[in-house]
Formats: sequence, structure tokens, C-alpha cells
Amino acid sequence: MLWDIFQQSQIEDNKRKTTEARNLSLQSSAMNIEIQERISKLSLITQAVWSFLKEKHGLDETDLMNRIEELDMSDGVKDGKLTAVVHTCLGCAKKISTKYKTCIYCGCQNHKYSPFVEINEKK
Ligand SMILES: [Zn+2]
Repeated sequence: MLWDIFQQSQIEDNKRKTTEARNLSLQSSAMNIEIQERISKLSLITQAVWSFLKEKHGLDETDLMNRIEELDMSDGVKDGKLTAVVHTCLGCAKKISTKYKTCIYCGCQNHKYSPFVEINEKK
């Protein structure tokens, strides 16, 4: 009798966990679809900007690839993305990251701040 109560409790607990896992999976799928849609929109905008640059300034794919590589290497690592790097603040000479607009120690403007690094940082 006691064993049956224990077993029933385990079954109910497993049902609850299964429902929670299913809900989490559905949320992840919805989030994945939203991210894919945002990437598609961003890709379209990037292609539009690139077509203007080609038409108006005569740039070609070699120029584009060279600039991508140059920007990729601006953080010192060729990894296909920009990441925050540490540098010396001109105001107080302490080490700060390129992800901050102002120095976290003295408050002066960060001369190497990059809004793109801030966007790429994981929240
Ligand atoms: Zn500073």
C-alpha cells in the first residue's frame, strides 16, 4: 500500500516534468523561428546596403571580403565576429573593455567604444 502511494507520486512527478519539458521545447522552437526571421530581415537589409555600395561606389566582392576580414581582425582574433577587447583608458590609464561607452572608472569617453561589440555580447 505504501509502495503504491510512492509509485503514484513518482508517476505524477514524471508527468509534471514531461509537461514542463514539452512547454520549454515549444518556447525554444518559437524563439528559434523568431531568430531565423530576424536573421532573414537583417540579411535582406545588408544585401540592400551592399547593392547601393556596389552601384554608387563601384565596390566589388573582393573589397567586401577584404573589409570583412579587416573588421574581423580588429579584435585580434579571426573568428567571424567582433568581440570586446580590453585596452587602456586615455583618461585614467586603467584597463577597460570596448563594450563600454564611457570608462567604468573615471567616466571619460571610451575612445575605442564599439556599438557593434555591445550588440554581439551575450546577455
Ligand atoms: Zn578611465
